[in-house]
Amino acid sequence: MSEQRPGAARWVPETLSRRSLREAVQECRGCELYRDATQAVMGDGDRDAELMLLGEQPGDREDREGEPFVGPAGKVLDEALAEVGISPGDVYITNVVKHFRWSGTRGKQRIHQSPTRAQVAACGPWLEAELRMVRPTGVVLLGGTAGQAVYGAGFRVGEARGRLEEWPSSFAVERPPAWVLATTHPSAVLRSDDRRSAYDGLVADLRIAAEQLAT
Ligand code: SF4
Repeated sequence: MSEQRPGAARWVPETLSRRSLREAVQECRGCELYRDATQAVMGDGDRDAELMLLGEQPGDREDREGEPFVGPAGKVLDEALAEVGISPGDVYITNVVKHFRWSGTRGKQRIHQSPTRAQVAACGPWLEAELRMVRPTGVVLLGGTAGQAVYGAGFRVGEARGRLEEWPSSFAVERPPAWVLATTHPSAVLRSDDRRSAYDGLVADLRIAAEQLAT
């Protein structure tokens, strides 16, 4: 970590609760992304959830509202979860990066730009803290950035999706999740030329997670 990008560790509070994390993350200067964002967006949901869903970063709407997955992609995800019998209220949902990275505008909307590997690494202590707090049994990785944050740069969501995997030993956590499942980010459904089949693919992957939770 450089001096300009020291990483988030020094801002993570000792006592972990949804409230303490939400408050502390607003002070984070672990990388440069806080500068152009409205606010940080910490994960949300059931802190005792069996399932953690992990995305990339807040979007335009999440940045304004301060809540994760409240925009169009979140709606797609909620629908897909409902279809496989997972209540959105029973999961904990978060992103690997807590501030919105964007570049330029289209109308009133700011255009999403994926975070760099260095920014994902800088933000990692927040994800580690959330994993320590929630201690999920399973983690669903939504898209390539989330997958690379957990498995490293070689991760490709197209190759890995829909398969139950082990939590990697390279990512140390106090109580590692028993399984991990990768799928596409719900925003990929919205961008797809064939939304129906992209959505069906997301549902099929989430169904594997739902079945695993039921065992
Ligand atoms: S993106 Fe993460 S590390 Fe960077 S300032 Fe925001 S919370 Fe801190």
